[in-house]
Parts: sequence; structure tokens; C-alpha cells
Amino acid sequence: MWNTPAVVTMLLGSAILPILLGTAVFGQDANSVGGYLALVGGTVYVSPTEEPIRDGVVLIQGGKIVAVGSKASTHLPKETRTVDCSGLIVTAGFWNSHVHFFERKWANAAAIPAAELSRQLQDMLTRYGFTSVFDLGSMWENTRQLRGRIESGEVPGPRIRTTGEALLPPGALPSDTVLNMMGVMKFPAPEIADAAQATAASRKLLDEGVDGIKLFASSPRGAPLAESAMQAAVHEAHRSGQPVFVHTNSGTDVLTAVRAGVDVVAHTTPHSGPWDETILAAMKERRVALTPTLTIWKYYARHDRVSAQEQIASTAIGQLRAWVAAGGTVLFGNDLGAVDYDPTEEYTLMAESGMSFRQILASLTTAPAERFGESRQLGRVAAGLAADLVVLKDDPAKNIRALTEVQYTLRDGKIIYRADK
Ligand SMILES: [Zn+2]
Repeated sequence: MWNTPAVVTMLLGSAILPILLGTAVFGQDANSVGGYLALVGGTVYVSPTEEPIRDGVVLIQGGKIVAVGSKASTHLPKETRTVDCSGLIVTAGFWNSHVHFFERKWANAAAIPAAELSRQLQDMLTRYGFTSVFDLGSMWENTRQLRGRIESGEVPGPRIRTTGEALLPPGALPSDTVLNMMGVMKFPAPEIADAAQATAASRKLLDEGVDGIKLFASSPRGAPLAESAMQAAVHEAHRSGQPVFVHTNSGTDVLTAVRAGVDVVAHTTPHSGPWDETILAAMKERRVALTPTLTIWKYYARHDRVSAQEQIASTAIGQLRAWVAAGGTVLFGNDLGAVDYDPTEEYTLMAESGMSFRQILASLTTAPAERFGESRQLGRVAAGLAADLVVLKDDPAKNIRALTEVQYTLRDGKIIYRADK
């Protein structure tokens, strides 16, 4: 008889395990112990601020980048497997700092067949180069199961951080009918009305292991969350070393939340008009970051008159432009899960706000890595960092839409997505 533990131990050291686990195409590039993989011949944007390396090499071993340089100056060890990246662009893996795993497709995540789960993660995330995501509101236990299946190596996917359930003021949760139309699974959301409830609800989630707290600042059908309640949630989160995100519906919400000490404003707020100096100065002074979510306003307004659509879009773009001009930190985030998956329009709207390619690249890489305490491991293409990488077909410095033309996505040195040839 086969001795199961011995067989597993034997297989763990080989490339066979990923095949057994249903991810035959993936993992083999990476998992062979001691094996080297090199991306060869591409233009490498090592960071948003440095000059790119032309005809470059990124050498990977054991899930980490071990060398980056020009082809002429970088020695490849014998038997290095190579991926020809001539004419292609290499960057650090992208972060999406505002996503949701709340669509019905993720329900009962522990039971979704591996192949189907892989496809869903690919369609939403890895085909667009996202190797790290922050989920800002979903069913914590379910998202934990999803993450567990990725981290065990069973299915290829991004690094997931999550706030679990968002904390809502009474009346903020959309009706079942609306949630159903949005495609959102049904799960209870904690309501908080004051500081004591904010403390208790935050502490419960933090003790259960979430990576941050998400607050809704106001509700269309009730009083907004008091600054003292937001402060209480911030206090609990920061006591655990975790960030606080806020869903804002207006400039007033932004001001209250920023004064309460939140870390990330999760939306622009075009429905209440441009952000004035008071709001911008408060955001700047408290060093918050912003996920712009420009696309969702156009999406929600798509049934309105064209002039109204343009008004909303241009106000949101103006808010982002003002924030960038003030030197504010932007984290790429487009409310993925609530909008169509293709982020091309978000990139073009960010560019319309005056963000350069390099600023947009920073919002996808170095800025979130720094904000979430991962800059020693993620966000740049440098020796010693995790080999989370994106290979693009064309240069986004010339056309920002090229950010979505992903040829390969690598996480921990494994090719977790490749475009069909
Ligand atoms: Zn959201």
C-alpha cells in the first residue's frame, strides 16, 4: 500500500503537486526547488521613479527576485528557464486597493470547484495583472476560505487582504432587491450607531483576524455616523496596527472621516460637488490616501442624460486632479466587483485627471506597498523582493491603455496568468 504522508512529501518537492491539485499549467515555472526562471529582453520599469532598464533581465529563484539588470551584465545560471520578453514591458505586480468578493459567484467559496474558482479569479484579477488586492467589504468567513484556497497553492490567485464585513450606520444597507440586482450575496452586515457599538464591532472583526476596518460614513435613510463613532473604530484598528477605510457619499463625509483619523478615503464624492480647500487641506494634513473609483460614477449614471453623466464624471475627475495637484497619495482602486472587470476606463480617467503614467504606476505598486507596510517585500522590481511581476505587451508610458494588455502575471515567481497566444 502507498503510505500517504510519504507520497505527499515526495511529491511536494517536485512539479507534480500542482498538477494533482488541478493547476497543471501554473506553478511548474516556479516550484521546482532551486530552479531559476528569467524574464529576458524586456523593458523593465524597476520602480515608478527610476529609468527603465532596456533589454533587461529579471532573474527569479525560490519565489524571489534574485537579480535585475541589463542582459549584457546579468549572468544567468546554467539551466535557467527563460521567458522571452523581447519587445515587452515588465513591471512590479499591481495592487487593486478597492475590490469586493461579495458577488454571488464567490458564495460558499470552500465548495467551488478548483477549476471554476481559478477561472473566476483570472477573469476578475490576474488577467489584469493584480497580484495584491484589498477587499473593502465582503463576508469575512467566506473571503477567509477563498484566501485559504489560494494560499495553500490549490488555486492560483492574488494576495488578498480584507476588512471583512463593512460597519454601517443604521439604514445604510441597500434593500435585498437592490443587492440582488447588484449580484451581491446576502450576508448580515453589522450596524453601528455610536462609539460603543463601533468599538465592539471593530474589536470583534479585528479579533477574528481581518486586515483593516471599513466604515460607511453616512446612510441615505438615517443619520450619518458620528465623528466619535469613527474615532472609536479608528482607535481599535490602529491598536491592532490595521488601517481604516471609509466609504464617503459627500465632501462633508470626507471631512468628518478624515478628522476622525481614517487612513484611506475609498471614493471620490462627485455628487456633492468639487472638493474645496478645507477638505483638501484636511486630507493632506492627515496624510490620507484616496482610491478614486472614477468608473463607478459613470456606471451608476449610465441611465441618466448624457449631460448629467458628463457632469458627474468631470466632477470626480476634478476631485482627483485637485488631490494629485496637492501632492496627495493615490492608491489604484476601482470598486472591482461592483463594476465591470476591465480597468481600462479607470486608467484613462486617471490620465484625464492629469496623472502621468509614472504616477499611475506608483498608485498600482509602490504607494499601496508603502501604505500597507509591504514595501520591503512588494511594489518594486528589485533583488530580494517577492517575484510578483506583470509583463505587458506595449509600453504604458506611450498609451496608458497598455496597462490592461497583460501577457503574463507572476506571483511569488509563478506564472499565474498567461495570455492566449
Ligand atoms: Zn466598494
